[in-house]
Amino acid sequence: AAKGGGRGRFRFFSADLLKAAADRRLLEEDLHDALQRDELEIHYQPVVRAEDNHVVGVEALVRWNHPEHGPVSPARFIPIAEESNLIKGIGEWVLRRACEEVSAWPGGLRVAVNVSPVQFADDGFPALVASALANSGLEPERLELEITESVFLQEGGATNERFKALKGLGVRLALDDFGTGYSSLGYLKTAPFDKIKIDQSFVRGATEAGSRNRAIIAAIVALAQALEMDTTAEGVESFDQFDLMKSLNVTLVQGYIYSQPIPNAEFVAKLNEGNWTIEPSGPAFQRHD
Ligand code: C2E
Ligand code: MG
Ligand code: MG
Ligand code: MG
Repeated sequence: AAKGGGRGRFRFFSADLLKAAADRRLLEEDLHDALQRDELEIHYQPVVRAEDNHVVGVEALVRWNHPEHGPVSPARFIPIAEESNLIKGIGEWVLRRACEEVSAWPGGLRVAVNVSPVQFADDGFPALVASALANSGLEPERLELEITESVFLQEGGATNERFKALKGLGVRLALDDFGTGYSSLGYLKTAPFDKIKIDQSFVRGATEAGSRNRAIIAAIVALAQALEMDTTAEGVESFDQFDLMKSLNVTLVQGYIYSQPIPNAEFVAKLNEGNWTIEPSGPAFQRHD
């Protein structure tokens, strides 16, 4: 117990928890209606080849514009959606909408869509992907599905059949947030990933003297190269981080150093201007949402 006013502190703490639980429940209720009320939207963040600043693809990131609270971070509402079964509807909407929007863009950029372990474990998931591709006309090789290590913990999630069915459609698979979950290198033996995404928690701090993150990133790159997978560094914000990622031979970079995620119309406008490369412009470019 805390010294002195321990009791007061306890009550304070407990009231806080109650409030958090109530907030969460209210948010969940609102999330139920978010799709029908057209409150969701997708922002796209460019994925850039570090060597020549060429934009090779985008990551689709869902946004929720809450009518009263304004933008709610997916880091907050995706876990709520996952626990309340809303993720299937939301995930399906994101997948279909991302395929539709990107198939209408000039050029052949790839789009990466985040897939929750709950969605991935659904037996109907490969059929949903096939349907999203067929309806949008997006070429399968332009769709990349991002999954995290937690699919290997989800019951019925990471079966060989599931991977085979998806690869059979011709889509690409990326392992997101690599090294932050319940990592086991065993799954890299058999799971057919095309790309490893190095989590921003490794990128952050990698430039500090004596950082262990640097050795970890170098090891991830070596592993990916040996297994013929691409690597993307996530959350690159500063020139120091950018230079380090290049020197460690990370091939693709995603982060505020190039661009924040931006709305569809804004992205299309840039593509129509012929902006297929972006100059890294450092943290000054940061815009907080
Ligand atoms: P993620 O898939 O690892 O996505 C990368 C996150 O890093 C995004 O946050 C992106 O906006 C942010 N980011 C990119 N560059 C930088 C940078 O330079 N600095 C910093 N500090 N952050 C950067 P966001 O959009 O808030 O999404 C958070 C997480 O929510 C995602 O992490 C993903 O796990 C989840 N998420 C987002 N959209 C979806 C979706 O449609 N479906 C599912 N299942 N999950 C999603
Ligand atoms: Mg992702
Ligand atoms: Mg990630
Ligand atoms: Mg992440």
